[in-house]
Formats: sequence, structure tokens, C-alpha cells
Amino acid sequence: MEKNLREIQHQTAADYQAGPFEKVILPLGSLESHGPHLPFGTDSLTAYLLALEVARRVPKTAVLPSLPYGMSEVYRDFSFTVSLRPETETAIIGDILESVYREGIRRVCILNGHDGNIPSIEIATRMVKAAHPEMKIVSVDAWWNTLEKLLPPDFFEVWNGLGHGGEGELSIALALFPELCEPENARGVVPRLPPYIDVKWMFSELTDCGATGDPTRATREKGIRMKKILVETIAGVLTALDESGWDYRSPEVKERNLRGRYRNE
Ligand SMILES: [Zn+2]
Repeated sequence: MEKNLREIQHQTAADYQAGPFEKVILPLGSLESHGPHLPFGTDSLTAYLLALEVARRVPKTAVLPSLPYGMSEVYRDFSFTVSLRPETETAIIGDILESVYREGIRRVCILNGHDGNIPSIEIATRMVKAAHPEMKIVSVDAWWNTLEKLLPPDFFEVWNGLGHGGEGELSIALALFPELCEPENARGVVPRLPPYIDVKWMFSELTDCGATGDPTRATREKGIRMKKILVETIAGVLTALDESGWDYRSPEVKERNLRGRYRNE
């Protein structure tokens, strides 16, 4: 195994003393079927490898180990699913953030790879922020939605590249961990969901093979472009935040904050 100082789990106490980092990226994943063409750990691997690429471009940034489980109950009809209850996952994310706070870290970026984690991220980050307002927490809750805003509208061929194990997810996996992908077995179903409302589905209502979207349209070339634009964008945002001291307040708000609390006026 090659040592990478951007990975906190590779560092020794001596490494940390010699080159302390001031911000961490927390990758979040899941363990669940992604169809016949992608590994169960796709979401963790994707989030982790993207996080490492981002950390390489931003000074004093290190990556926490990826959380390899998430809230996956609605995927349980397909093997192999290991799921956390939402209260368990919320507690884990909260405990991790509290721990890095105790270590003196005040800048955190969450990089999430799995849709089922979003509610727990939301609750945990709001609770930790309220407990420690001086902590700055940002999150890429859904990299696939971020990419939708960054890529040209005709970039993907089917269903805007979406889907669990779909065109977009297999493409980026082919760029990040091609050895674990089997695009020759790619299969998926494009679900026919009603527009404008959010259907609360069991995944087995949407697909018979553990994947949605059209992964047969996935290519490594698309994945390389996706990875590049996503990594550069997140790294650019973190660099700009560093330059501002992560002070995203407008001047009048900053001025008002200096005078103290709002109540009793
Ligand atoms: Zn996934």
C-alpha cells in the first residue's frame, strides 16, 4: 500500500505534528447493490476517491476514512444491503463532527455519495452547527445534482445521466475505479415517475435489477470529464472559502453580529 499523507488513516502522530491540517473532508457512502455492473461499495469508493482528488488541490486539507454504511432500507430487496437506522447514522455523523471539533478542526466539508444519507447529514450538521456556531460546515449532499448544474444539458444520453448505477454513476466509477466495474454486464431501468412531486418508493418498485437509468450509455471518457469538472469546482469553492477565512457573512451582518445577540431589542 502506498502512503498518502492526505489520508488521515495513513498518518502517524509524527506526520500530524510535522504537517497539521486545518480542514477535513468527510466522505459518506453505503453498502448496497448497484446492479450487476458496479460493486456494493460504489458510493463509499466514489465519495472517498473524489475527496482525495479535492484534497490534493487544496492546502492543509485531509480526508477522513469514508463511512462505508448509510441509510439503505429502501434498497434492501437487493443483496447485499447493510443499512444504518437514520438515528444511528445521524449519531455517527454527529459524533465524527464533535470529535474533529475537539481536535481543533473548525472547517469541514462533507462529500456524500448516497441519497439515503441526506436526511441524516441535514440533522447532524444543524445540531453540531447550533452547538458550535464557530464551526464552518459545508456539504456536497448530492454530487450528481451538483454535476447537473456544471455539465452541458446534452452531456448525457438518457434521463440526464441519472439513476442508481445509471449512466452517470457508472461513468464516474469507470474514471475512478475501472478495475471494479463490469460495463459489459450493465443493465438498468428508467423509472416512469410522475413529475413535480417526490415519490417515496421502495427501490424494487423502480427496477428489477438493482439499478436505474441507462448504464449501457456510460463511458470512461464521460466519467473523466465529470470527475475533472466536479473536483475542480469543489476545490475552487474550498480555496475561495480559505481565502475569505470561511467568513461568508455579508458586511452588514458581520457588523450586526459584533453587537451581540438579537433578542430583547
Ligand atoms: Zn450509488
